[in-house]
Amino acid sequence: MNKPEVSRRRFLAQVAMAVPAGAVLLDAVVTNHAQAQAAAPAAPAKLPKLEESDPSAKALGYVDNISKVDRKSPLAARFAPGQECDKCSQLQGKVGDAYRPCAIFPGKLVAAKGWCSVWAPIA
Ligand code: SF4
Repeated sequence: MNKPEVSRRRFLAQVAMAVPAGAVLLDAVVTNHAQAQAAAPAAPAKLPKLEESDPSAKALGYVDNISKVDRKSPLAARFAPGQECDKCSQLQGKVGDAYRPCAIFPGKLVAAKGWCSVWAPIA
């Protein structure tokens, strides 16, 4: 009848040794998870759309739809149908998005179907 008592003592001793180790391990896991979350880069903020009225847009004749290009403007001297932003080497971001970043207008999104006088074909 003494044997269960020994087993119980042994069990309690093992638990006493295991719990602090488990708590330390759990704390390390939680701490690492929190540090990983804190170190993870934030999702990129959504950029504002470039307005045609923006001075930099006006300077380059930017329009948010190629159908609005003023062909009489000197800025459109090199314009040709089919020169949408989504076929320009300066366009960045995800193919298929309606508005994407452009290297010429940092911090703004341009329309994939837009155009400006800096248009250059994708190589
Ligand atoms: S540089 Fe190219 S992608 Fe950027 S606005 Fe002008 S035509 Fe569009």
